Amino acid sequence: TKLRVGLLFGGCSGEHEVSINSARAIAKALSAEQNASKYEILPFYIQKDGRWLAGNVSQQVLESGQPLQLPRSNPEPQENQLGSDSSQLSTADRLSFSRWQSPSQVAEVDVWFPILHGPNGEDGTVQGLLTLMQVPFVGSGVLGSAMGMDKIAMKMAFAQAGLPQVKYMAVNRSQIWSNPCVFPKLCDQIELNLGYPCFIKPANLGSSVGIAKARSRQELETALDNAASYDRRIIVEAGVIARELECAVLGNDQPQASVVGEITYSSDFYDYETKYTQGKADLVIPATVSDAVTRQIQEMALQAFAAIDAGGLARVDFFYVEATGEVLINEINTLPGFTATSMYPLLWAHSGVSFPELVDRLIQLALERRSTPE
Ligand code: ADP
Ligand code: MG
Ligand code: MG
Repeated sequence: TKLRVGLLFGGCSGEHEVSINSARAIAKALSAEQNASKYEILPFYIQKDGRWLAGNVSQQVLESGQPLQLPRSNPEPQENQLGSDSSQLSTADRLSFSRWQSPSQVAEVDVWFPILHGPNGEDGTVQGLLTLMQVPFVGSGVLGSAMGMDKIAMKMAFAQAGLPQVKYMAVNRSQIWSNPCVFPKLCDQIELNLGYPCFIKPANLGSSVGIAKARSRQELETALDNAASYDRRIIVEAGVIARELECAVLGNDQPQASVVGEITYSSDFYDYETKYTQGKADLVIPATVSDAVTRQIQEMALQAFAAIDAGGLARVDFFYVEATGEVLINEINTLPGFTATSMYPLLWAHSGVSFPELVDRLIQLALERRSTPE
């Protein structure tokens, strides 16, 4: 009998559309000849408002690639009516989040494949829910996901593991908003410790959302205020001039590192627009760097993976400061983009692991993690 894979996608984050595209690519790979006899897909689409949908409607979103539009108000769902408007969902297809444990579709899942990017999916929240369900799932658990999402916790773990990284300062929203005496002192400290340019980031986001580069006091003040509107926790980093290299990791306790890839672009930094506008960034695989740099990055990627207790998969991103030959770790992403043109699956394709084989291995890794001694 086939293993039923609960493909969980969409979600309430800025990366909703990317998640749909990732899920489409994974569904296609699960239907490929080598996987079709092993796996059956049960799609679960999470709407932008957090509601879970199952059945035909989720299948429709997967097939069309189009997010479901939210109705302006929230009328009671009509029975047995399917359409592109979520106000017309049958109750069977609409799983209100608070009732997630009752619908039969959820109980049928043998293994979950969450492919949600950003907050409410990559950060340990959904992983906590799946852990409570006591059903194995692809990717990192609660700890690895949360550590990988919070840039402050992540950098503390990297520092403890001895991984070189840029200088940074952790800032709390209260230092920016609450006390007018604290803020100028904070800015003084940042200037003293980090200088310009520096990068200001909400600690728990992705896709470069809320990130700014400051070259002056005024830009720093504006960027801190803006970042505080996204998150209580903020990180400020010294800016480096560097090439951006990425490495994919696959496995649990004995993970493997892929070939190294490079992101190239002509904008000031790899911001949201550069990431998601067709043609603004290019992937170069393998990156044209020395074997020594490649090996160093692969080694550091595996150390970073272990440092946050990641599982299954992660993409680890680096700054390569060519002027000094230094390799600095930037971040780890525990649910990286997984579309047909995303870095993670392409790095594996260049390392000899095809897309269908990759999703097969990830599901087997999820089952393996569960079967470790209790
Ligand atoms: P996200 O998790 O949103 O991808 P990152 O920390 O990777 O956030 O930052 C996004 C981009 O901003 C990076 O890919 C890089 O182009 C630029 N950037 C971030 N931090 C620095 C830094 N300290 N020095 C230089 N560029 C940086
Ligand atoms: Mg990230
Ligand atoms: Mg990044």
